[in-house]
Amino acid sequence: MNLVLFGPPGAGKGTQAKILQERRGWPQLSTGEMLRHAIGTGTELGRKTKDLMDRGELVPDEVVIAIIAERVDEPDSAAGAVFDGFPRTIPQARALDSMLGQRGKRIALVIELMVRDDALIQRVEQRIREGNQRADDTPETLRHRLSVYYRNTAPLLDYYREQGKLAGVDGMAPIHEVTAAIGGLVDSCGNGAGAGNEGPNRQRKSVVGTG
Ligand code: ADP
Repeated sequence: MNLVLFGPPGAGKGTQAKILQERRGWPQLSTGEMLRHAIGTGTELGRKTKDLMDRGELVPDEVVIAIIAERVDEPDSAAGAVFDGFPRTIPQARALDSMLGQRGKRIALVIELMVRDDALIQRVEQRIREGNQRADDTPETLRHRLSVYYRNTAPLLDYYREQGKLAGVDGMAPIHEVTAAIGGLVDSCGNGAGAGNEGPNRQRKSVVGTG
């Protein structure tokens, strides 16, 4: 199954994507991690994107679309993938739909992790206290990333709602409860065993809780 984990920075998408990868075998395709890897290994791509990322700005659509296009053709994505931090703009979502469509696949489910802004700020402050903060993990940059999220990324909620694919999960709950809620959604949407071609379960639309 191909699914998108959606939500503001720090909502827990990466945590849940890793759990899905472990339990279901669908690789986590995180554009943020791919970009940080490019920066860490000193590639041309990393040099070009570091400054934008550190400031909490979006990297240009064509850059992230190209990285994802390469990645969806890897054999490990054949049975599906968990998109984490991608798409972040309407053009990215359209590009994803068309690249999957060309391969006879589709996004089956989009799960929004709903977390209040004040909790997101607290999470970043916690990471700073624990000393495992990223370059873009300062309270100021997080506020900026949040404003970018509401301006550029949140409109995707309507995009996926109109496609009947959107479901919401309470991202303020403990990690294992969020995992269980996601697992329930995945199981009720094409029993989780498909190759990414299953349509959205129309009855399941009633669980959509994102208003
Ligand atoms: P978070 O979800 O915590 O904001 P990510 O690791 O997903 O963190 O992304 C970190 C940064 O990488 C973003 O602020 C942005 O600069 C860049 N980035 C990641 N994914 C995308 C994307 N799909 N489009 C544009 N920029 C992206």
